[in-house]
Amino acid sequence: MNIANGVEMLELAMNVMGNSSVIHPTLIWDEATVILVDAGASQLPEIQKVMDQVGAPFSRLNKVILTHQDLDHIGGLPEILRVSDHKVEVLAHEEEKPYIQGDKPLIKFNPQKMAQRLASLPEEQRKQMEKVFEASQRLKANVDKTVEDGEVLPYCGGITVIFTPGHTPGHICLYLNQSKTLITGDALNVVEGQLVGPKPEYSSDIDSAKNSLKKLTQYDIETVICYHGGVYKHNVNQRLLELANEG
Ligand SMILES: [Zn+2]
Repeated sequence: MNIANGVEMLELAMNVMGNSSVIHPTLIWDEATVILVDAGASQLPEIQKVMDQVGAPFSRLNKVILTHQDLDHIGGLPEILRVSDHKVEVLAHEEEKPYIQGDKPLIKFNPQKMAQRLASLPEEQRKQMEKVFEASQRLKANVDKTVEDGEVLPYCGGITVIFTPGHTPGHICLYLNQSKTLITGDALNVVEGQLVGPKPEYSSDIDSAKNSLKKLTQYDIETVICYHGGVYKHNVNQRLLELANEG
């Protein structure tokens, strides 16, 4: 779905732990730079197809910015780096770097937790999940550049990094200065058309996840892209104030 000039929200089908859903990485591009925000679980052909369609082909991809370490956001990264014929720079927050690089086990997908969960799945789903999990265990992707709160990345009209810990310790949101678009990662979700706050069951620290929402009220936002739930455009600033005050 086209969001603004040079901003496309992807819509990728995903099946995790028996639940099918749609996830939404974002593609941002101009003449110099093509950026993928979050790498999907393992859907490179679908990503390439959209990139061709919008005129920012995979052969031009030069950066991946990760909002955080969860598998549905980084699972597709190893393949992207392997398939690309040139260096793709990977950016993430310092706090997420050791998990993404495999120096620490992923917080929510460590081998012990996964073994238990996989055992309970029907065979076909288990095989699919095992593939994603194995890919994540082989992940030796260096984070080439760490980003920090308030930093404005000089790409595609300026991308402001907003440090929003809680869902994971180093979670970030991205504000696209030109189109006033907020890419929330998993700091916010859209459920049945409504913008809602972080889900406690998926947050490594729900209090800080809620606290992080206050930061988002400092920006003038017209469009929100949630990785889970997609686009939200209705009185965004007011809705964010409500969510931040709910506490
Ligand atoms: Zn997610």
